[in-house]
Amino acid sequence: MSDTITAPTAETLAFMAKDHKLFIDGHWRVPGSNRLIEVENPSTERLIATMHAASMKDLDDAVAAARTALDGPWRRLPPAERGKMLMKLADLMEADTSMLAQLSTLENGMPLWLSLDKMALLCPDIIRYYAGWTTKVTGDVLPAVPVAGEDREWLVYTLRQPVGVVGCIIPWNAPASMITLKAAPALAAGCTVVMKPAELTPLLAIRFTELVEAAGFPPGVFNLVQGYGDDIGDGIARHPGIDKVAFTGSTAVGKAIVRAAADDLKRVSLELGGKSPFIVCADADLDQAAPAAAAACFFLTGQNCMAGTRLFVEDSIADEFNERLTVAAKMFTVGDGFEAGVMVGPLISAKQLARVKGFIDETDAAGARRIFGGNVPDRIGHFVEPTIFDCVTPDMRVAREEVFGPVLAVQRFHKSDETELLERVNGTVYGLSGSVWTRDLSRALRLAARVDSGQVGVNAHAAVSAETPFGGNKQSGWGREFGKEGLDAYLKTKAVSVNLGPH
Ligand code: NAP
Ligand code: MG
Repeated sequence: MSDTITAPTAETLAFMAKDHKLFIDGHWRVPGSNRLIEVENPSTERLIATMHAASMKDLDDAVAAARTALDGPWRRLPPAERGKMLMKLADLMEADTSMLAQLSTLENGMPLWLSLDKMALLCPDIIRYYAGWTTKVTGDVLPAVPVAGEDREWLVYTLRQPVGVVGCIIPWNAPASMITLKAAPALAAGCTVVMKPAELTPLLAIRFTELVEAAGFPPGVFNLVQGYGDDIGDGIARHPGIDKVAFTGSTAVGKAIVRAAADDLKRVSLELGGKSPFIVCADADLDQAAPAAAAACFFLTGQNCMAGTRLFVEDSIADEFNERLTVAAKMFTVGDGFEAGVMVGPLISAKQLARVKGFIDETDAAGARRIFGGNVPDRIGHFVEPTIFDCVTPDMRVAREEVFGPVLAVQRFHKSDETELLERVNGTVYGLSGSVWTRDLSRALRLAARVDSGQVGVNAHAAVSAETPFGGNKQSGWGREFGKEGLDAYLKTKAVSVNLGPH
């Protein structure tokens, strides 16, 4: 399909030109704030949509609607009916793949084939996976005797109940999967949702909400409040009517959310930044590992929390591997996501480009060897070439901090010193993802167990699926998304102890 679309279709253009509103209590409503949200296409630097942001009053109304819905028909709806609505939403998303993908490419810049893949494959799968769980949430019956020594019979059981009103705050780097990954488990668990998309990418979220409306969810179950992080995002984190905040974004904002949510001790789940290792041993299948290493870092222009941005290569093959890496990197053609053959889109904004270029200049000055890319092409759009540095040392900022751009930092290691390797691999504040590339099974499993991250691939990087738990250790986050753990994050346990009287 991506071959046939080279520009936004008339239908997509008409959607973008609409008067964009908030979705609160089942109605589309004019936003109450004077603050403007201006959506730019990062490939063309053109303004593609404007809308007003939500006001605090809008947020209050959205939270009130979500609270009323939680205690209304939504609670009484049989779980199987919730499942059917989610299945319908998945079907509607699949039918709308083309427009959703175009919107992702227009507001985020990602290549169209990639947005089509994400939409067509991952997002409906995630929704259907959680739809299936709706009828399988159960508690336990426990062989407990709460008051010992009394001759009584007891029935003790647990109920799994929705945590309540969930405020979701999401980033711009993968608009479709981010909104899906929050909405699907929350709704499957029976929660109600107040969703704040990133101010840079509100369009896909609005289209998604139209599909939620069409799927027949009762009013107030899903509310959309487009707005800024420093008011609506912060307002969600502080709101006394919200029971849980589900956040994906930077570690710095994650910490601010924890502080803001501390006043009423609301639940918080956090999916934050990363600096993930990609470890290549000398016996690895280099035909596979080299292109995979380039993809692990350059995918989504490096604006990807799982990106394999620190490459550790065994010194005996390092020169050969670097050559293979630069050959692989040449395949990552940079351009507008609507152009045929483009593998890497622009960075999201001028600010992000300046930041990434700053990292590149600083790493040059620090004495690392730039072996590929690193230039800013002379064209409109926030483009930067995929970049590879060899001879990076652990003290350099590029080896420790998340760049959120296509910058790969190569370090070398000695086969004999696995302990030293692991010290470097685990020597960041992050612990999100990672991978180990070797044909030696024992070594693969030993290293996989000791990389301090929420998930690790063996001869694969960032292999996510609806079934597989995903999340961070250390400052990469709290909790897990995807899989059954992703559902548990929206459920709370109640224990019921029934005194059945004397034996
Ligand atoms: P960000 O600046 O942290 O923003 C994320 C969201 O938080 C946006 O909706 C933002 O609003 C909002 N926000 C900003 N300040 C806030 C505040 N004080 N209180 C409440 N909300 C606030 O992150 P980003 O730059 O958009 O995204 C990149 C980051 O996300 C990277 O660090 C990346 O690693 C991380 N990420 C992690 C995962 C994961 O699963 N672990 C996945 C993807 C991305 P506005 O921007 O609209 O103002
Ligand atoms: Mg931001």
